[in-house]
Amino acid sequence: MYLKSLEISGFKSFAKKDSLDFTSPISAIVGPNGSGKSNVAEAFRFVLGEQSLKSLRGKRGEDLIFSGSKNERSLNRAGVKVIFDNITRFLNIDFDEVSIERVVFKDGVNQYFINGTQVRLKDIIELLAGANIGSSGHHIISQGEADRILSVNIKERREMIEDALGLKIYQYKISESEKKLDKVEENLQSVESLRREIKPHLRFLEKQVKKIEQSVELRDKLRDLYKEYFKREDVYLKYQKNYIREHKNPLEEKMRVLNEDLADAKEILRKESNSSPKDNQELIEIEERLSEKRKERSNLTREIGQLEGMIVFEERRIVREESRQKEEDDRVIKFKDVKNFLFDLQDSFEEYKNISITDALDKIKHSISFFLSQNSKTAENVQIDKSEIDKLKREKNEMERKLEVVVREEKELAETFENIKKQFEKDKDSSRIAELKIFEINAKKAEAEARLNSIKELEYKVGMEDENFKRELNEAFVLAGRESTQFFGFQITEEEVMREERKLQMERGREIEKIKIKLEDMGAGSSEEVLKEYEDVKNREEFLTREIEDLEKSAISLKDLIMELKEKLNVEFRDGTEKINKQFSEFFSLMFGGGRAELLIVKNKKRRRNDFGLDLEGETADMEDEEETEEGIDINVSLPNKKTKGLQMLSGGERSLTSIALLFAMSQIKPPPFIILDETDAALDEANSRRYGDMIESLSKYSQLILITHNRETMSRAGILYGITMGMDGVSRLLSVKLEEAVKVAK
Ligand code: ATP
Repeated sequence: MYLKSLEISGFKSFAKKDSLDFTSPISAIVGPNGSGKSNVAEAFRFVLGEQSLKSLRGKRGEDLIFSGSKNERSLNRAGVKVIFDNITRFLNIDFDEVSIERVVFKDGVNQYFINGTQVRLKDIIELLAGANIGSSGHHIISQGEADRILSVNIKERREMIEDALGLKIYQYKISESEKKLDKVEENLQSVESLRREIKPHLRFLEKQVKKIEQSVELRDKLRDLYKEYFKREDVYLKYQKNYIREHKNPLEEKMRVLNEDLADAKEILRKESNSSPKDNQELIEIEERLSEKRKERSNLTREIGQLEGMIVFEERRIVREESRQKEEDDRVIKFKDVKNFLFDLQDSFEEYKNISITDALDKIKHSISFFLSQNSKTAENVQIDKSEIDKLKREKNEMERKLEVVVREEKELAETFENIKKQFEKDKDSSRIAELKIFEINAKKAEAEARLNSIKELEYKVGMEDENFKRELNEAFVLAGRESTQFFGFQITEEEVMREERKLQMERGREIEKIKIKLEDMGAGSSEEVLKEYEDVKNREEFLTREIEDLEKSAISLKDLIMELKEKLNVEFRDGTEKINKQFSEFFSLMFGGGRAELLIVKNKKRRRNDFGLDLEGETADMEDEEETEEGIDINVSLPNKKTKGLQMLSGGERSLTSIALLFAMSQIKPPPFIILDETDAALDEANSRRYGDMIESLSKYSQLILITHNRETMSRAGILYGITMGMDGVSRLLSVKLEEAVKVAK
């Protein structure tokens, strides 16, 4: 026996604290109408956690508290405590005795206690569910509710049977899992939409990162090119500087010696000369023209050199311009600028609300092209001006032609001079020879001067190239790092460098220039930021993908769990129903002295309504997927010696007997610790009361019974009898009575 006692104080008509001890397997509560018997059954429902005030016959929490009478004051609280013997640990809590208490106050606040400790309602429900006791369960049959199981629909009946079989726990788990599944699916959708949102941004960043990788590649290539270029330049410049050093001093020395020789020759001439200056006229003229030509040649050579320099400069400019234009298609606009632009665009949407869609699109198009024109550095494809280089080349050709003429004329004059000199030597004219000597020295001087000039020219050019070299080294350092300027390790000999045409080195310079421009246009400056953002966005995307995988996995396992639970529920339900059926037909034939009764698992087609609220049952009969079926329990009965079949043919007493037979059968499969029956026997005649009594006795072997009754036969089966009386003060009182007294009290 599990149920020990019930304590009531302030609950409904029980104004005074009172208690009932359930020391026998069958206890009966008797008393006249309106004395408060049903209030005891309700006290059980209340303490076990019933939340429906309707099933406690109240409207507000206050209705459950003693409301006062002529002589008694109303109370502020109602409390009911039930005490269980838990030696067998049928309640999953480690105490030999367990008390469950509920108190309600006037303001409707409820408090719950387990062994005196305040707990939540949920804790009580969980504790009781484990022992097959529920607040509104099948084991408390209220007055007039006995045949409810016969009058409900097939689905409700199924629920009652599931409850009796202790299968509610599956329903509870199924609905918990379904709620979880809904939540998971909701999460899945929002995570998926988050992932969809970042996808375009990620793609954009991927492109950026690819460009950054390309620029890293380009920089590596640039570094290699630089090394060779710088090494060659270094070797070339050292060679040239050396050459200048070796040649400049001797030439200056030679000039000095020639100037001395000239002075000596002039002195000799002054002493020996007696010839008239007129005779030398032709020779002087030739010499003058010759030195003029030499000067012209030297000037032309210098000018040609300068033009060559200018042409190289122009060529570099053109290459730079051309590369810029080629890169136009791959032009990069800063991400920050695009983001700002998009924000601005979004702001302006507000203005577009009142205009037509075509106008709005037009405005957006204009905004975009304006943004592009503002943010790409040199957007227009200008025709590159090549007129300058053409002019320079023309000038250079002109100069070269002139140089050819001058060289030819100089050669002719030199030959003429040589012939005259030979004539003078034949004539052995000493003063003439002295004069000739002077001319000769002058010629040598002019030659030496020209060579010195060209060395100085070279010195100037090499100086320029040297400066350029230093500038390029600096640029390389900034653009491609220190490594690119460390060219000493590059293996190449001076001979290899100097044997190569200078043009090829210029070509290398141009190649470097092109890569530099590409790199500049890639805007390598913000690469760190982009890489970081890419990493972040990629990580986020991967995180979301993992999240989706996890959610999908848990959705699958929840679906599996739900299926499994439904399957289990189904199997146990069928199994349990079969067992109930066996008992049901036994009890039934016991009650009626024959006949048959059985439960049938049936499927009903459910009416479905379409969106227009029309009943579509007929119309959709051929549309399989539109149909929904619900499973329930039907009851088949046939009475002995009677042709009539079906529940609706039963008399009031027969209905009562049938439902009692079914309720008892249900209670036998998974017996609850106690059953309360409130006047279930009211409609029975004497013979049936006896049969009822027999069944009660056999039922009490599994569950403790508390019977509220007016029936003498039922009372006689009880081990303990409680009488309830209500005096003029409207307060119910309990007293233990003997059978004979009980019979009197009941009346
Ligand atoms: P019957 O045999 O006719 O079914 P019963 O013994 O089951 O009667 P109950 O329905 O338990 O009687 O008790 C009803 C009585 O309880 C009524 O007299 C009612 O006035 C009283 N009652 C119900 N609620 C309260 C309350 N809050 N305060 C005081 N009395 C109450």
